[in-house]
Amino acid sequence: MAVPIIPDPGGLTRPYWEQARAGRLVLQQCHGCGHAWHPPLPRCPRCHATVTGWRQASGEGTVYSYTVVHHATHAALADRVPYVIAIVELAEGPRVVSGIRGAAPDQVRIGMPVRAVFEEVTPEVTLPQFAPR
Ligand code: ZN
Repeated sequence: MAVPIIPDPGGLTRPYWEQARAGRLVLQQCHGCGHAWHPPLPRCPRCHATVTGWRQASGEGTVYSYTVVHHATHAALADRVPYVIAIVELAEGPRVVSGIRGAAPDQVRIGMPVRAVFEEVTPEVTLPQFAPR
């Protein structure tokens, strides 16, 4: 079996992965202007302030766009094809790239309401994914 693809849960992204392990989806948020974004950055992409924190997101969003993958790009994903990779627009505004679970690829539609689900891949890493709601 191929070694799965595991993100590094350290550095700037550490709070994101710690909260995901607890079943919460979080976003970085600027203390200066209130803007929220993903993925994590060292400063606010809107006003460039470096004082940022984290806020819990609702976990709800809609499919903004998606593709159906028929040829795995990594051996660890070979048993999952076909699978969906989507851009999910969160209720809070940021768009995130994610897998879609709980729906066959031909059931996924642009605009489909989805909710975050959490897939533990190792004791240290839980991947936020999305499923129809
Ligand atoms: Zn800002």
